[in-house]
Amino acid sequence: MKTKYIFITGGVLSSLGKGLAAASIGALLESRGLKVTFQKLDPYINVDPGTMNPFQHGEVYVTDDGAETDLDLGHYERYTKVKMGQRHNYTSGRIYHSVIEKERKGDYLGGTVQVIPHVTDEIKQAILQLEGEADIAIIEIGGTVGDIEGLPFLEAIRQLRGDLGRENTLFIHVTYVPYIKVAGEVKTKPTQHSVKELRSIGIQPDILLCRTEKPLSKDIKAKIALFCDVDEDRVITAKDVSCIYEVPLLFNKEGLDEQIVECLNIWTRSPVLRDWEELMDKIRQPQYEVHIAMVGKYVNLKESYKSLNEALFHGGVANSAKVIIDFVNSEEVRGEKLKERLSKADGILVPGGFGSRGIPGKIEAIQFARENNIPFFGICLGMQLAVIEFARNVAGLKLADSTEFSSTTKDPVIYLMKEWYDYRTGKKQIRDETTAKGGTMRLGAYPCKIKKGTKAYEAYGCEEIYERHRHRYEFNNDYKELFEEKGMCFSGLSPNGELVEIIELPKHPWFLGCQFHPEFKSRPLNPHPLFVSFIHAALSYRTKKSSN
Ligand code: GLN
Repeated sequence: MKTKYIFITGGVLSSLGKGLAAASIGALLESRGLKVTFQKLDPYINVDPGTMNPFQHGEVYVTDDGAETDLDLGHYERYTKVKMGQRHNYTSGRIYHSVIEKERKGDYLGGTVQVIPHVTDEIKQAILQLEGEADIAIIEIGGTVGDIEGLPFLEAIRQLRGDLGRENTLFIHVTYVPYIKVAGEVKTKPTQHSVKELRSIGIQPDILLCRTEKPLSKDIKAKIALFCDVDEDRVITAKDVSCIYEVPLLFNKEGLDEQIVECLNIWTRSPVLRDWEELMDKIRQPQYEVHIAMVGKYVNLKESYKSLNEALFHGGVANSAKVIIDFVNSEEVRGEKLKERLSKADGILVPGGFGSRGIPGKIEAIQFARENNIPFFGICLGMQLAVIEFARNVAGLKLADSTEFSSTTKDPVIYLMKEWYDYRTGKKQIRDETTAKGGTMRLGAYPCKIKKGTKAYEAYGCEEIYERHRHRYEFNNDYKELFEEKGMCFSGLSPNGELVEIIELPKHPWFLGCQFHPEFKSRPLNPHPLFVSFIHAALSYRTKKSSN
């Protein structure tokens, strides 16, 4: 079968959950036995989201092939079996970059380079790369209809309908139907305007996904259908839900997948949604509760630790537990106040991060977890800080630090490794302070060998794993022997033993740090072993605490 394309646009306002809608549609199509893939097209000028502030843009999601992408790719991977990569996320910046490069090389033979056709062709090419990858490619356009910067993308998908044909393309528009309290009714005007805007660019939506607080009545659907020229059955209520993993089931009840396969004229089996139903049953009736303190810098913004929050949630579901996260800002909460907050937790987690802000508070939190036998999980920077804490307070290296925070430290336990073998490229990597910034991170999936008899092995149940990375600094092997003597176990290493990937403290009930980001690979239907194990340990700690 030739690949068919679903284009998802958004209207009225941002944050309507277009990404979740796209992911849920993918889940539904998979449940009908179709193979899906995704692409996110982002209208901003940054070439990739790698350098964007997580405060502004939310998490940077890392794929196996080392692409730093928009967090929506995380939703796509969590809801379906797909593996996303470099070619599944384009920004305007990346598109323009390549057009300008071509222009400089003379590829346009002296012609005037214009938005139409050159930029739009470049966009079309990016989309059509997915041809053959799946039965259905779901293409999500970032931003909202009416934004100036989104226009070339909309023009490109408009043209694609003509190029590929009606049965091979589908336009879904996600819109908002607000409930106005004083009037006691829902209002369809914003949706009408948004569709009008879309039609003025030449795109007639086939299906409308209406985000709303209350289910839309038949009358309201009929009204929207009439004004927007969409079949009544294709006006879908996307009611707010308390749990995002309910969305596929909700869409299915509304008949969305049925409408999609009808529009695209494909024959499929009926959807099999047992997994999702069982998952929701489990989520609705947790048997336990567990409190995790997350000590970080961007803690006031849930979006910046999206995958991490989800992974903790998945780990909770696997343990029949509701995970309650206490976000602790390590820049503000210190000393006794910090201890008091952390005493309430059943587990302490220090996530990844960059730069020196908030570091001392995180180190205090790690020390507290280590000394009080509270389950501790350190991820990337969290692992590096656990090493520093251990160096200072257990191994007696009072001035130990990472060269990220102190370039002249006497004991650089975390540093830029000058030379190492890169399993992804099969080449030697060279690092020094001058190459520190920019494209010199260790990015993407790397192999790691796990030592038997460790917590990591217990969790994974296998000796070789692949996990995703996004960092520059590494553990300094000069300190390995000393730390082993003092009780640290290096339970995960790169296959040649050069890079430390996982550390543990065997004497502690659960103290583990990993140089990679396990959260990127956790799925609701396939929770990540380290998160399952961490939450399990936190639950045991909670039980013990309450029986004391
Ligand atoms: N700042 C650290 C490094 O670059 C950790 C990065 C991270 O936590 N993702 O190595």
